[in-house]
Amino acid sequence: RVHSLARVEMTDPLTTKQKVKECLNPFKLSTQDLNSVLERLLKEMEKGLKKKTHDSATVKMLPTYVRHTPDGTETGDFLALDLGGTNFRVLLVKVNADGKSTVKLESEICAIPQEIMEGTGEELFNHIADCLAQFLDSRNIKDKKLPLGFTFSFPCKQIDLDKSVLIRWTKGFQCSGVVGKDVVQLLIEAIQRRGDFDIGSVAVVNDTVGTMMSCGYKDPECQIGLIIGTGTNACYMEELQNVELVEGTEGLMCINMEWGAFGDDGVLDEYRTKFDKEVDAQSVNQGKQIFEKMISGMYMGEIVRLILIDLAKENVLFNGMVPAALQMKNSFETRHISEIEADTNSLAEAHKILTSLGLEPSDDDCELVRSVCSAVSTRSADLCAAALTAVSNRIRQNRDVDCLKITVGVDGTVYRKHPKKTHFHNSSLAPQCDVTFMLSEDGSGKGAALVAAVVQNKNMCS
Ligand code: BGC
Ligand code: MG
Repeated sequence: RVHSLARVEMTDPLTTKQKVKECLNPFKLSTQDLNSVLERLLKEMEKGLKKKTHDSATVKMLPTYVRHTPDGTETGDFLALDLGGTNFRVLLVKVNADGKSTVKLESEICAIPQEIMEGTGEELFNHIADCLAQFLDSRNIKDKKLPLGFTFSFPCKQIDLDKSVLIRWTKGFQCSGVVGKDVVQLLIEAIQRRGDFDIGSVAVVNDTVGTMMSCGYKDPECQIGLIIGTGTNACYMEELQNVELVEGTEGLMCINMEWGAFGDDGVLDEYRTKFDKEVDAQSVNQGKQIFEKMISGMYMGEIVRLILIDLAKENVLFNGMVPAALQMKNSFETRHISEIEADTNSLAEAHKILTSLGLEPSDDDCELVRSVCSAVSTRSADLCAAALTAVSNRIRQNRDVDCLKITVGVDGTVYRKHPKKTHFHNSSLAPQCDVTFMLSEDGSGKGAALVAAVVQNKNMCS
């Protein structure tokens, strides 16, 4: 695709306006572009589901062994671990006997230091077991042997609800010796190395699945789970007969799409800007999670930062000076994007944030920075909406209905803080789907507890 503007002569200096346009236009995706992204994703989904093409598919469409959304028969107290988002958390969740509610009783955030994210797997799981021990100790429940739901938000080849092998790390995690291993086993081994407490049966879920389950508890039409946070991904209920990797043809199974890897084979290259390519080149997982890198919180701030540097070099921002603060990786945080955009009536927020980075921005600078933020976050939302449309349309065709009423359980810091949520709800792409969004509360904790309850029931019956 050619985005360059008509110029009278190649040597003519571009006006400020033209330079800005040239820089930001590639972020604008037309309805036609978005439809084409949607079509490509549908093809990838098909490839991921089919036995023959699964190995070479980028969008893995992983079976989760979750066969139905909660039916209200699950009860009791459960531990939940949530690893893979902004924070690592330990929770204690009560699933009520009335079959209508889950309650988060207690929770604690436990930071994962950078050294651990990039250290050995043993160190990571020791750290998790330490946090768990501390949590149980401080609540005097170390002797309870509670069942545990483990929200592990990375691509995993799941063999059953309680057996899940890591395919690859994402979102900056790089612990050695974990890829190819069952993470439930690694967790149990770390707990056994300590030897001071024990846990009951374990269930592993992706955060998208936890989110869908926690909303499905309240709304049976919730058949899609969506995360737009540090990373991005979705899951949905697929007809088991279409899931070739799992035996059986009756009923449904939740599929963890792992759509973050969409584009890893180059199918999105024509939509990627030079900034996307630079962000990828500087990442720890080059060439991987291409779709995620255009959408999620781990990367959006970086895209904005690189654009700002470019515009400063082009002499249309900050008087042509590239500020030292902006040269530092991750110095422009993704949360700044929503803060600046939310401030629709004034430039105060932009001014405050740029000043805190050591700049002395003019009003024009602030205005332009806001346009940059809006270009990047709008594209993120547009791409997400297109991908979601692919999913809801597929479900509609599976069910063979003219109009599908469906609820999407959603979570993630980017979605939560986005000032223009309607962008994610863009329904013009799927006129035959009536989509409702439901914000999940503690989905990773409650959803994981609900799945753990299913495992516990199964163990008690067998
Ligand atoms: C992971 C997914 C996860 C998503 C959102 C991605 O990087 O691969 O498993 O659901 O982030 O947390
Ligand atoms: Mg999370």
